[in-house]
Amino acid sequence: MKTLHFGELSVDKVIDGIERFPVLNAFPEIDLGIIEKNMDWIYPFYEPMSKMILLSMHSFLIRTPNLNILVDTCIGNDKRRVGQGPIYKKNESILSHWNNRNSKYLRNLESFGLTLESIDIVMCTHLHADHVGWNTRLENGVWVPTFPNAKYLFSSEELSSMQKESKSPYDEYTKLVYQDSILPIMESGQANIIDDSTDLGREINLIKTPGHSPGHYCVEINSKDRNGILTGDVLHNPIQVDCPSISTVFCDDKDLSNETRVKIVDELTDSNTVVLAAHFSGSTAGVINSKNNSRRFDLI
Ligand SMILES: [Zn+2]
Repeated sequence: MKTLHFGELSVDKVIDGIERFPVLNAFPEIDLGIIEKNMDWIYPFYEPMSKMILLSMHSFLIRTPNLNILVDTCIGNDKRRVGQGPIYKKNESILSHWNNRNSKYLRNLESFGLTLESIDIVMCTHLHADHVGWNTRLENGVWVPTFPNAKYLFSSEELSSMQKESKSPYDEYTKLVYQDSILPIMESGQANIIDDSTDLGREINLIKTPGHSPGHYCVEINSKDRNGILTGDVLHNPIQVDCPSISTVFCDDKDLSNETRVKIVDELTDSNTVVLAAHFSGSTAGVINSKNNSRRFDLI
């Protein structure tokens, strides 16, 4: 993705990796005819021969005149990511890639001329394993905050839900994520709970968008010459702009997730707002346009 400019703000994508995922595992209820119908534009995000969707794992780096903001921190390195439960077991061949990784994410971040110390804010749209991994890194066997000067922004609903789930004997996976990627941030005093007073600058707003997870937030950028939205996991694949009422297997509350997604997609359609989703692959940035009673995602 080329650097996008929104007035005085810029947005870049920092890649941690790309995953391929069977479309029917990710979207168990999808009618593959919808994909066939949209094949003329869905191809960069879907492999028709293998019926795999591509899921990019990346952060967005927002630079304002005063702040360097990292939105979501992907999967991370050296994390133990194994678990029980139906979702993990069914997708073990893919999710096991997240175990003990060694990606070049930090080098990718530094290629933008930034040091770890120069990140001011880490905003987690939600606290799933693929959005909090680089919150911490392993140093001499201890998990430490990757960004020593950053405030880390978490939603209270997200945090309390995770704390509850991590105590369940059936959810070892969430417990691992909590212990290695959230708890060290709480203990360092760098965790900040998002509320109405959270200020990321006058052109950036946080919008509560629950469903995929209980306290999910999107990040809206409104500059005088261009608008954008970082949609987190409200959308996983652009096919959802044509059928926004299809959730993934990873959505915590399917009905609420659908409701939120339908509302957001309706608002964005033909608005020329730049959509930056947490997992869209390739050049990633695009707009939602209506065409012949359907909708498509057009890369910009
Ligand atoms: Zn995700």
